[in-house]
Amino acid sequence: MDGLDSLAVHERRVARDLALLGLPPANWPATVAGPDGEPALDVLVVGAGMYGVVAAGALLLKGVRNIQVVDRAPEGLEGPWITYARMETLRSPKHLPGIPLGIPGLTFRAWYEARFGMAAWEGLYKIPNADWQDYILWVRRMLDVPVRNGVSVLRLSPGAGMVAATLATPEGERVLHARRVVLATGRAGTGGAAIPPGIDPSLFPALAAHSAEAIDFTRLRGRRVAVLGAGASAWDNAATALEQGAAGVEIYARRPFLPQINKGRGSAHPGFFEGWAGLPPEEKWRLLVYMADLQSPPPHETVLRTLRHDGFRIHFSTPITGARREGRAVALTMPEGGRASADFLILGTGFVVDAARIPELAGLAGQIASWGDRHAPPPEARRPELARFPWLGEGFELEAREPGACPGLSRIHLFSHAAMASLGAIASDIPGASIGAERLAQRIAAHLFREDIAVMRGRLEAFAEPELESTPFFVPAAFQRG
Ligand SMILES: Cc1cc2nc3c(=O)[nH]c(=O)nc-3n(C[C@H](O)[C@H](O)[C@H](O)COP(=O)(O)OP(=O)(O)OC[C@H]3O[C@@H](n4cnc5c(N)ncnc54)[C@H](O)[C@@H]3O)c2cc1C
Repeated sequence: MDGLDSLAVHERRVARDLALLGLPPANWPATVAGPDGEPALDVLVVGAGMYGVVAAGALLLKGVRNIQVVDRAPEGLEGPWITYARMETLRSPKHLPGIPLGIPGLTFRAWYEARFGMAAWEGLYKIPNADWQDYILWVRRMLDVPVRNGVSVLRLSPGAGMVAATLATPEGERVLHARRVVLATGRAGTGGAAIPPGIDPSLFPALAAHSAEAIDFTRLRGRRVAVLGAGASAWDNAATALEQGAAGVEIYARRPFLPQINKGRGSAHPGFFEGWAGLPPEEKWRLLVYMADLQSPPPHETVLRTLRHDGFRIHFSTPITGARREGRAVALTMPEGGRASADFLILGTGFVVDAARIPELAGLAGQIASWGDRHAPPPEARRPELARFPWLGEGFELEAREPGACPGLSRIHLFSHAAMASLGAIASDIPGASIGAERLAQRIAAHLFREDIAVMRGRLEAFAEPELESTPFFVPAAFQRG
């Protein structure tokens, strides 16, 4: 049996497991009309990356089936994995279950063994990016997640009972109404690329790029490349540039040495995932500050991959205070008059988390509560970049800065790394994904049920399946009084 045959066998097994578990249940929420008179969606999920797929999967498995997922990327190109993630394999270990939502057959390992065989699994060191992308697409297919690719959400406008989403579709702009919206727009969707002050915007795109952009590395052949930042993406880009023939790559890092320990991995267990939400804000803040100050090291494989090349240098304790065009090159400035030059600049500086800078929420900037609004840490623990994290409800709901000031705001659920401060790492990386999705779906199902209680009660009252008809104790409805 070849890989595709054995995958087909496996798929039948997964379908049977789902049937044995009675999943997915029939749709149960009430049908609610939007302001246009058309039935509204119960949930619109924005983003069909790993988190969008697992969120939608979890909702379907709760019988919330009137949902739609949209992604602006073409099918197969969602998220970073085969677009701007320039590592050779995932940074995570291979044995993470993936996004199985509690179904063993939906784990990465089950898919991989079915597709490539047990021996291949045994021989696998870490997961190649393209396999991870294929796996996410496969889970999407197995759970029948309704996705429309090539559709962007431009704007979200919450109101009483409904959120209006303005979409750009291949057929033109249109407005869709949904009772709840899940923003699963990824790392790049939490406020945009972090661009340090002093970087001249006119350098982009000819002489500079952020690591999350498409970069034509063939153009950098024989050129000198400067990279700002020393995290995993900075190193991935340095290695890629060298492999593609850059003459030299120099990383500039503010720190005197690389972070040594990945505390994220040390906290990737159900205690942190399930327990974080219930911690008092002071305790969450202490942990956030501790992890933010320590930062995470790049994976050792990435460092070794970079060091295989001549022409690599890293400058520690070297902050870059400015970058501007000088002829056909980039002039970099440092404190105390230090200077350097490069032919191209790559910013491996990560992403901002700031709900006020999320484009889909632009009309709501200033109304969304952040940690800075709700929590006042002692002076030594103040961190402006953490204070900008949104303050979310227990089901990832946005909250209004002034309670009651923005009806419907809490109908938008931020299911991304922006939830880290409020709910822990259950919408950030792979390990917390199933736990985060379960929490999200459970809370959304509960909201819908509460809102639909009149319909639920009406349906219950109309439910009239006679249990005892075949027994001597059957009493027809008309005779049941008294
Ligand atoms: C370079 C890189 C490497 C990583 N490696 C690892 C790793 O090895 N292990 C790990 O655990 N984590 C890793 N992560 C962290 C995390 O797992 C990934 O960011 C992962 O992609 C998160 O999934 P997501 O679904 O939240 O976001 P994404 O995968 O980024 O998906 C978001 C989707 O939303 C779509 N979208 C955005 N805005 C809109 C809009 N307005 N309308 C329609 N669609 C929209 C995008 O097109 C995209 O497809 C990595 C992150 C990055 C950036």
